[in-house]
Amino acid sequence: MTTTTSFEQLQLLEPLARALREQGYETPTPIQARAIPPLLEGRDLLGIAQTGTGKTAAFSLPILDLLAGDPHPTTPGQPSALILTPTRELAAQIGDSLAAYGRHTKITHTVIFGGVGQTPQVKTLRKGIDILVATPGRLLDLIDQRHVDLSAVEVFVLDEADRMLDMGFIRDVRKVIARLPEDRQSLLFSATMPQDIVELANSLLRDPLRVEVTPPATTVERIEQSVLLVEKADKRDLLVEVLKDRSIVRTLVFTRTKHGADRVVKHLRRAGEHAEAIHGNKSQGARERALESFRAGKSRILVATDIAARGIDVRDVTHVINFDLPNVPENYVHRIGRTARAGRAGHAISFCDTEEREYLRDIEKAIQLEVPIVEDHPFRSTVPFQRQKPKPPQQRAASGDGGTSRKKKSRSRRGGRRPRGRSGNGAGQ
Ligand code: AMP
Repeated sequence: MTTTTSFEQLQLLEPLARALREQGYETPTPIQARAIPPLLEGRDLLGIAQTGTGKTAAFSLPILDLLAGDPHPTTPGQPSALILTPTRELAAQIGDSLAAYGRHTKITHTVIFGGVGQTPQVKTLRKGIDILVATPGRLLDLIDQRHVDLSAVEVFVLDEADRMLDMGFIRDVRKVIARLPEDRQSLLFSATMPQDIVELANSLLRDPLRVEVTPPATTVERIEQSVLLVEKADKRDLLVEVLKDRSIVRTLVFTRTKHGADRVVKHLRRAGEHAEAIHGNKSQGARERALESFRAGKSRILVATDIAARGIDVRDVTHVINFDLPNVPENYVHRIGRTARAGRAGHAISFCDTEEREYLRDIEKAIQLEVPIVEDHPFRSTVPFQRQKPKPPQQRAASGDGGTSRKKKSRSRRGGRRPRGRSGNGAGQ
């Protein structure tokens, strides 16, 4: 039996607890329950979690608590906490969360991102703010112009690290990290842990607590899943065929690669379907336009890569179509979780070519369900499918290894952590 933690047990400052009650939050999500107490004690954190798990509150609440519990005047251009996030939308969402949770405190924050004029951002920074939420490019610009100085940062959050990588921001991220003081608390969040992110985490975090959460299994159970066996060359025509079903009101189509996404969109447009693609090669503006058009119902099809689709919250997605099957079962669960939001039912249709059958078996093992095969479609592969494959000669390496077994490098760059004022529990009682 696991006991559910309550927000009271987390002993957040009273103004924060009050704001949470006003938000209607009753119990912490798993990542909040596991991450908040050690974060309040100043631990570094590696959070493997995607949007929808409550990770924003998991890092925002401890930051607000730490700063509000130890108030000091702000210095122009010198934030005490920095939250680095890949996109403007995510930055804005984090800003909204900080505003909501911190509304009864005096902690100030601002959000800066590119693609808009910098003057209003600079003006706000000059007034002095406690928490800065930023995308990497604009932040570096403002640092270079001396509008921002990171030397007073006590808490640093790197959000959606894998997406930073996908969008080509990792070098910028490293440059930002180089400007941070050695003595700080660091948090890294990523939905997946590719090798580059494992390395980044190793260089950024000191003896971090690792918290990994996956979307609740109940989501998977509520989704009507099916798989269509098809040859690779027929997938695009199959997609056009499947989309003739007008009960597909709003669908995300997942491809494994960015080029694949573009090719699918081109094909759909030729077939007279209005589709948009979002992925890391698209400009911020193009991604936002695509997303807006999808949200507004102007296009019912949004083609996305795994990483680009993360962090976007679109309601009423009726279907998820896996144009390509992911080779990591966890990504399958993440993808199909984009439908069936907020308790609704949803549909997940997967195309599986002959080479992907192995992935299908892995997925079925992971979700402990056999995904029903749709036999009746015009592009049915003629290659027979056996669910149980004869054992391959050598065991495949387990995928999705986050590198936990890697021996931690001992880092002496920081001495002991400067204790933050947790002398009183600050709970106001
Ligand atoms: P995030 O994963 O941070 O994007 O959060 C996903 C959504 O869950 C947001 O709309 C939050 O407002 C909401 N949320 C976060 N924590 C809780 C909680 N403990 N109870 C209810 N809703 C929450």
